[in-house]
Amino acid sequence: MSEPLLEVKDLVKHFPIKKGFIPSRQAEVVRAVDGISLDVYRGETLGLVGESGCGKSTTGRLILRLIEPTSGSVLFEGRDILTLNTQQMRELRKKMQIVFQDPYASLNPRMSVGDIIAEPIEAHGLARGKALSRRVEELLEMVGLASYHMKRYPHEFSGGQRQRIGIARALAVDPALVVCDEPVSALDVSIQAQVINLLQDLQDQLGLTYLFIAHDLSVVKHISDRVAVMYLGKIVEIAPKDSLYDDPKHPYTEALLSAAPIPDPERRRQRIILEGDVPSPVKPPSGCRFHTRCRYARDICYDRDPAAIDVGDEHRVACHFPLSSRGDSDSGHQFKDKEMN
Ligand code: SF4
Repeated sequence: MSEPLLEVKDLVKHFPIKKGFIPSRQAEVVRAVDGISLDVYRGETLGLVGESGCGKSTTGRLILRLIEPTSGSVLFEGRDILTLNTQQMRELRKKMQIVFQDPYASLNPRMSVGDIIAEPIEAHGLARGKALSRRVEELLEMVGLASYHMKRYPHEFSGGQRQRIGIARALAVDPALVVCDEPVSALDVSIQAQVINLLQDLQDQLGLTYLFIAHDLSVVKHISDRVAVMYLGKIVEIAPKDSLYDDPKHPYTEALLSAAPIPDPERRRQRIILEGDVPSPVKPPSGCRFHTRCRYARDICYDRDPAAIDVGDEHRVACHFPLSSRGDSDSGHQFKDKEMN
């Protein structure tokens, strides 16, 4: 594997909850991200999946320093970005870009598409005049649009086309890393594949590195080289794609995969029903945070937070009782399963 482009260590973001008007009465915090460590290697796509509210989008924003972490470090090309001053951070932003989830909200409706894409190029002093226009045309063509689209406004485009504009804007400053924050979840299913294929083509063409955040496991499987699964502010499992999908080691991953559709009508999969709601990140459960919903939980799980362990082949899992193989566990708990067609 190549060297890491991005190294995240013990990243924490706690959002304080202020009660009343008196600042000193701040009592609780939302533990949105609670000690995440991961590497993203040059040229790869790392998928980051989890249910809504698990902290995956906050992680993406922390990595880009769009919000300030509570603690931890984020090394990009070996430099801790959290120690950089405003000017240094501004320089670095050229190399780290984001594609947002909502292509409707992320584009300024008062600006033409040409101006939207030109804005970051001008802001970083990368081109002016005719060279700027040529660069905007080139970017539009790269994302499957045409130069005549420059003069049009966002409302004149479909959702998929707007996301292409968002991608062109992210690529305008020639980044190395692109954080794709649920880039297709607001799009029709028929359009999702087109945008995913475009992102893959651009990665091949430009040698991009992606952190791809999504809640849809089938989308993540399609584009990722490795996948990290988040639950309640922590990474519970990280592995190469095939290893994670074929042989999940964490009960949460197992349950998520059991609910994902399989394209083969001949195959049946045991559906695992996750009981209860995701607990509040203000007061996460003691010990293993998943114990309130885990069908394999035992006494130790209520008290001790499991450390991530290496189970071989770059597959890491944070569980006291990793599944031995293909969901086969020796737990004696009553399962609440049903067969799924
Ligand atoms: Fe389940 Fe215990 Fe593993 Fe947590 S540590 S996932 S509760 S078996």
